[in-house]
Amino acid sequence: MNGSGMVMERGVDQALRRKLIEAVAATVIAHADELTALDQAIGDGDHGINLKRGFEAVRADIDKLADQPLPDALKMIGTQLVMKVGGASGPLYGTLFLALGKEIPQSPTLADLGNALAKAIDAVKARGKSTAGQKTMLDVLAPVQSVLAKGGGDLAARLTAVAVNAAEATKPLKALRGRASFLGERSVGHIDPGARSAALMVVAVAKVLGA
Ligand code: ADP
Ligand code: MG
Repeated sequence: MNGSGMVMERGVDQALRRKLIEAVAATVIAHADELTALDQAIGDGDHGINLKRGFEAVRADIDKLADQPLPDALKMIGTQLVMKVGGASGPLYGTLFLALGKEIPQSPTLADLGNALAKAIDAVKARGKSTAGQKTMLDVLAPVQSVLAKGGGDLAARLTAVAVNAAEATKPLKALRGRASFLGERSVGHIDPGARSAALMVVAVAKVLGA
């Protein structure tokens, strides 16, 4: 898969691992209030607070994490998120990062990244007894995986666009999983907080990899 313009094609070294971790942690922390406001509309208003707590713990460990090979760093982040985030999203994002760490090789190609994300999405689905279309983080992760798997030029920009648009596209959906599902029809008309947080993470990763 040549010509994607992604820097990881030159290898994922310590500096790149650090940039990726910092970018994801920084965007989640910076958008905590927005995520909390989204969760106030259709949940219990803790999504931003939950993720901020988790990613502050990740950020505090950034030197140690970036020193690990990519699979180990991802697994350690997953463990941190399981321990620190709480709610529904803690175990689910924890599962996502743990499975990514389990599936990804130390020096992944884009195809490896696409395969690892597909397996990690399956792990989230199994853990959450959920699938795309139910107004959750999966509504962003699944289309992002499709774009990644197809590859091609200008990939970072296309990953960013699909992630942002897919989060927006959860607005008209009725929530069928998680706390928002208790609202039934009243969940319609609001962006899913977990879809938005997943989009923020994808945008951050795409920006670093496309730089
Ligand atoms: P809680 O709902 O326990 O308060 P959070 O507010 O941190 O947890 O996270 C809510 C988000 O988690 C939702 O917006 C949704 O994207 C995601 N989510 C909840 N349940 C599931 C599930 N079964 N499968 C996938 N994602 C889910
Ligand atoms: Mg919540």
